[in-house]
Amino acid sequence: MSLSSGTPKFRVAICGAGIGGLALAITIGKFACHDIHIDLYEAHDAITTAGAGITVSRRTSEVMQELGMYEEISRASTKPPPSSRGPRHRISNVPQGGFEWFQDTVKRAASIMHRQSLVDILKQYLPLSCRLHFNKRLTRYDKQSPGSLILHFADDSTATTDVLIGADGLHSSVRKTLFETLDRGIVDPNKIGHYTNPSWTGKLVYRTVIPVKKLSQMDPNNIALKDFTVFCGKRKHIISYPVSEGRLLNVVAFVTKEQKPGTPFEGRWVSDVSNEELQEQYQDFEPAVKNLLKCSENPSRWALHVVNELPLSTDDRVALIGDACHAMTPHFAAGAGQAIEDAFVLGRLLAHPLTTLDNVPAALKAYQDVRLPSAQFVARESERVGRIMDFNTLNADRGNEQEGLGNSKREDLRPVEAGRSGLVLLLNG
Ligand SMILES: Cc1cc2nc3c(=O)[nH]c(=O)nc-3n(C[C@H](O)[C@H](O)[C@H](O)COP(=O)(O)OP(=O)(O)OC[C@H]3O[C@@H](n4cnc5c(N)ncnc54)[C@H](O)[C@@H]3O)c2cc1C
Repeated sequence: MSLSSGTPKFRVAICGAGIGGLALAITIGKFACHDIHIDLYEAHDAITTAGAGITVSRRTSEVMQELGMYEEISRASTKPPPSSRGPRHRISNVPQGGFEWFQDTVKRAASIMHRQSLVDILKQYLPLSCRLHFNKRLTRYDKQSPGSLILHFADDSTATTDVLIGADGLHSSVRKTLFETLDRGIVDPNKIGHYTNPSWTGKLVYRTVIPVKKLSQMDPNNIALKDFTVFCGKRKHIISYPVSEGRLLNVVAFVTKEQKPGTPFEGRWVSDVSNEELQEQYQDFEPAVKNLLKCSENPSRWALHVVNELPLSTDDRVALIGDACHAMTPHFAAGAGQAIEDAFVLGRLLAHPLTTLDNVPAALKAYQDVRLPSAQFVARESERVGRIMDFNTLNADRGNEQEGLGNSKREDLRPVEAGRSGLVLLLNG
């Protein structure tokens, strides 16, 4: 029964005002009216985001439609030209000139937009029932009998809530407390650190933007000016696509280091770097790539970490969404979309008229059963796609890297797979 006459059914605290946390607050607000009070706690003093481009899949667009913000998302996005079939993949580790490898047979991305535009739109749709609290970095929570949770923040303040959702990203404090306070026997105590600590993928990611005008003046026929392009090479690849109504190219460049994934990363996880450092990584790539990177502005380097596959995403009245639950490699351009899908499913369940404080744990369990396997499947696919771009595919599951494709001989390539993602891949034997 709805109690919208005044008393809320329960209070939900969302920790983290990233894309996932914002989408959750919007979903609850839209479908529960004032039945649920939302407190959104953000560690920073504003809602910000890192990186430039984001691709929004068709499924994510459908969620946006349900939330009533599709028109605005659509206006702010750069659509692929109608003639474009999907990203073009090139064999690019050929210094004298690369060649086309394959093109996706389906358009995976419905649209591409600037990350800040997406966040700005989400902010506008926050419901009145949501109170935003900035400079509130959650450090841990305690379960208080009977039922409510005490939230502890880095500024020594506390707050209480009935339901807590961790949307606090890769380094999630909610995930840490959840696994450290699980009842004995639910997970192997020796694996708690495996679930709470982010894991290095062995990859560095350079993120930068390229002004289209600058590249057009230097190299008017550069392939990156024509299409969404993936430049592939041995243990390296670069993704380039237009954002900001085609004024900028968003460039994400991956380098896989020799060290094994899962080893600790030494050094700063995120740092600004020089253009020279970025260009240095791709000295063995085709001229189009070298020219592209010469036009780079303010590149930064990220040590790419993920969350190891979790056995669960909820405990009692606490749940995890988005990167807090399944931070994944970005090769499928799906992490934010998965965070939005988590938020939508969880938000609808919490907002359901039959959901009460007493049966919230069952609602959270339903969320886990629907979303966790699905998001983890996407994370595995994303990793697989990354290996393909890095010419590291054949026996990768057995830890046996395929050699040979790195030689990039055109005659070595042949079609071998029509994957679930719709990719038609060309690999050697
Ligand atoms: C190079 C790269 C490219 C990508 N490209 C794409 C793409 O094209 N498409 C796509 O869908 N995804 C992409 N992703 C993935 C996407 O960026 C993430 O999956 C998405 O941002 C996750 O959103 P989130 O809200 O779960 O977490 P976050 O965006 O990490 O937000 C977490 C929020 O919580 C706050 N916070 C953290 N700790 C605390 C705390 N203790 N207390 C309170 N607040 C806290 C943070 O300040 C932040 O605001 C990419 C990722 C990378 C690295």
